Amino acid sequence: MRVGIGYDVHAYGDGDHVTLGGVRIAHTRGVIAHSDGDVALHALCDALLGAMALGDIGEHFPDSDPRWKGADSRRFLRHCGALVQAQGWRFVNADLTILAQVPRVGPHRLLMRQNIADDLGVRIDCINVKATTSEELGALGRGEGLACQAIVLLTHGDLASRPRYLNAEHAVLTLLEWRVVPVVTENDTVVVEEIKLGDNDNL
Ligand code: MG
Repeated sequence: MRVGIGYDVHAYGDGDHVTLGGVRIAHTRGVIAHSDGDVALHALCDALLGAMALGDIGEHFPDSDPRWKGADSRRFLRHCGALVQAQGWRFVNADLTILAQVPRVGPHRLLMRQNIADDLGVRIDCINVKATTSEELGALGRGEGLACQAIVLLTHGDLASRPRYLNAEHAVLTLLEWRVVPVVTENDTVVVEEIKLGDNDNL
């Protein structure tokens, strides 16, 4: 089994909504971020990548890359979910805690769970989303931003005949278009044979 933990925080800025767990929630402010700033999905992606020892979301989707400007973070989550399968792991469960003084998160939790379950291809009862305030303490308590913690558990799936990835960079190269390019494992030694960099030239 593997466990992974993730944490993300974003500050509030100009705007009229926040995106959490793929749900657009009306708010008096927006989130300062390169992508859609979905702290729940970013924390969950980091937890998934952490469990697989495949780095972090910043390595897979750098905020310096214009391709991810304003990106829907559900795409990031589907990428991480594809990696779980490609690496031969089986998703067990995820538990998220959203920390936000405002806006109110509770009414949207069910839809967040459904979005996450859909993107990972798992049952909704494998996904839990909790929300809490910071009791008006600190920056989050003053409503200057919002954060999320996530933890996930993976277990062994079909490890045989699955492609494996050496590290985050190779995983990104092979899965950006949702395709798997063979990466061979021989006696626990990872041999990268067919990483075709040119395949991603059109991205
Ligand atoms: Mg983030």
